Amino acid sequence: MKPNKISSYSLPRAGFFSALENLNSRKDVVEISELNFSQRVRNELARVKPTHPSCKWAELFGLIQTIGTLNISTRGPSLEIKTENAAVARKAVTLFKELGQMDSELIVEKETKLKKRKLYRIRVSAEDFSRIFPESIHSNILDKDVPTFAEDQECCRRSYLRGLFLGSGSVQNPEKTYHLEIRIAEKRFAERLKEFLDGTDLKFGVVERRNEFVLYIKDSDSVATFLTMVGAHSSLLHLENIRIIKDMKNNINRMVNCEDANIEKTITASVKQVQAIDLLEERGMLKTLPKSFQEVARVRKENFDASYTKIAEILEISKSAVSYRLKKIEDMAEKIAKDRRKDQEDEE
Ligand SMILES: [Zn+2]
Repeated sequence: MKPNKISSYSLPRAGFFSALENLNSRKDVVEISELNFSQRVRNELARVKPTHPSCKWAELFGLIQTIGTLNISTRGPSLEIKTENAAVARKAVTLFKELGQMDSELIVEKETKLKKRKLYRIRVSAEDFSRIFPESIHSNILDKDVPTFAEDQECCRRSYLRGLFLGSGSVQNPEKTYHLEIRIAEKRFAERLKEFLDGTDLKFGVVERRNEFVLYIKDSDSVATFLTMVGAHSSLLHLENIRIIKDMKNNINRMVNCEDANIEKTITASVKQVQAIDLLEERGMLKTLPKSFQEVARVRKENFDASYTKIAEILEISKSAVSYRLKKIEDMAEKIAKDRRKDQEDEE
């Protein structure tokens, strides 16, 4: 019996795979520039092919535990994986097939006006499933616990993480911010996963959001480590490129700010020096100074925002000579000001 409101078809295996293949490759060509970073990572991970059977199990575990459900219908109990991503759907079908020649059925929900995307459902009968999976593994999946072999073997751990990410992971565009997360429905399972992840190099945080538990990392190094672990090498390169450009921009900004600060310092000093020169001129003292001092004073007044280096260049003398002469002028002006204050006090 066909379910309502959905188009359901079971294709012969070969046709089934090529149908998915076509669908997927067409999507990649058309939308590659519009893909967000999450989709890009997910599409890349869907193409990673684990070789060992235990790694395949681990990956399928991750998928089932995040987007799988156990359904009871008139046709008997079945295990179903739901996803909007064609590449993920293909991956699930491939894993079921490779792990035990299980007959899986693909159901594609029609697009509606409200819901632009298609929904893929991959269904395997519970009977088939328990025939292939040993009892211990079977209960691990349904109880939502981390499979023991994923804790013991590095390759399986990575595959398990890949499966979890393919199921319910997302990562922000690194141009905006560094943030990667995996959403989990059950609190107990989220806590269990955090414990498991604490055993890796990654320190995930957990936060509750809209009845879900979100495991997240939010610094560039952790996101890069995760992408490396799960085998998203091309996405990692993209992230690294953006990280380099961002760092360069920051450095340039720092340099510009630093220059601004220097200009401000130069001008503050210049104001004081010009006041001092004016005072000495007023008192007829500038012309009593050596010619070399008078020249520095003139150039300073003519080049209000010039640094010592610039003044030194104009006069073809050393920077320390400029500094020494201007300091001398300032000291003389300071002395005049001090004497004037003293005279005023005496008069009072
Ligand atoms: Zn493995």
